[in-house]
Amino acid sequence: MILVTGGLGFIGSHTVVALLEQGYEVVIIDNLSNSSLAVLDGITKITGVKPHFEQLDLRNKPAVHYFFEKHKNIEGVIHFAASKAVGESVKNPLLYYENNIGTLVYLLQEMTRHGLSNLIFSSSCTVYGQAATLPITEEAPIQKALSPYGNTKQISEAILKDTVNAYPAFKAIALRYFNPIGAHPSALIGELPRGTPQNLIPYITQTAIGKREELAVFGSDYDTSDGTAVRDYIHVIDLAEAHIVALARLLAAKNKSNLEFFNIGTGTGSSVLEVIHAFERVNKLKVNYKIAPKRPGDVTAAYADTTLANNELGWQSRLSLEDALRDAWHWEQKLAE
Ligand code: UDP
Repeated sequence: MILVTGGLGFIGSHTVVALLEQGYEVVIIDNLSNSSLAVLDGITKITGVKPHFEQLDLRNKPAVHYFFEKHKNIEGVIHFAASKAVGESVKNPLLYYENNIGTLVYLLQEMTRHGLSNLIFSSSCTVYGQAATLPITEEAPIQKALSPYGNTKQISEAILKDTVNAYPAFKAIALRYFNPIGAHPSALIGELPRGTPQNLIPYITQTAIGKREELAVFGSDYDTSDGTAVRDYIHVIDLAEAHIVALARLLAAKNKSNLEFFNIGTGTGSSVLEVIHAFERVNKLKVNYKIAPKRPGDVTAAYADTTLANNELGWQSRLSLEDALRDAWHWEQKLAE
């Protein structure tokens, strides 16, 4: 049995689908703070399997304790449950430390107490800040976080390091995601942003469908080919697959150290304008946008060197930016039905 925390969220739900498709038995815990039970139906429709689900808030320590007392057959844990909005984390840092750090501690306490060892952790390329060299390898230095959210990912990685040192039987892999986008090609699951989207792709799709009047392109004088910021956008289906191979690596004891880090991206950077124009081209429509001031805290360019993930995990992204933008648009249209 594989425990997926935050399994009804954006990346979690796609990973649950991939796990079920590969025959894993899955139990999801999710507090539904940024997801809905409809996602469980979507997962069931896609796979024909209804995963076990418990509505549980990981901040509730006794409930977490009880969960692990009740489930004695957990072989691995994929831990997605966390808050992820950079701006919100600046306004409400303590919520972020509680949600992202407190819950990781409870989870690790229960895992180590029960002798469970295989954890896949959602980290982020934000740990690198503006890297001096592109593409970014796992060797790039961690830079001072620019937001409480970014800080929680760095602190979480440090907590994992201390945990594997103290518990030699404990093993974890931290996947440093670049920019996850897209949706399941069936349009049965996808991203469900709360309120005004902070991320580029949901903002584009909501503008295209008329929910938002105009997309603001944050900054046009970055030192990039067209002046807009560059990111590595990875299809959520490819990202989900990376979790499956990372988990399989731990389950087969193929890991080379008790804590490994992998960049998960495509290896290709795209500028904001390139993304907008690719979206327009592939979906045959126009997006209303204007150039706006830079968003504080944004780096100029970030894209992954994926050599380590390619060689060690035997994983590489297969889907294109265009695939992701098509699937994201189908999902937005489905939401509007
Ligand atoms: N972006 C933008 N307009 C928006 C949202 C994002 O121009 O409404 C830009 C943002 O400045 C960054 C890129 O799109 O350069 C990706 O932003 P996102 O928030 O999706 O991911 P991040 O890389 O910040 O985690």
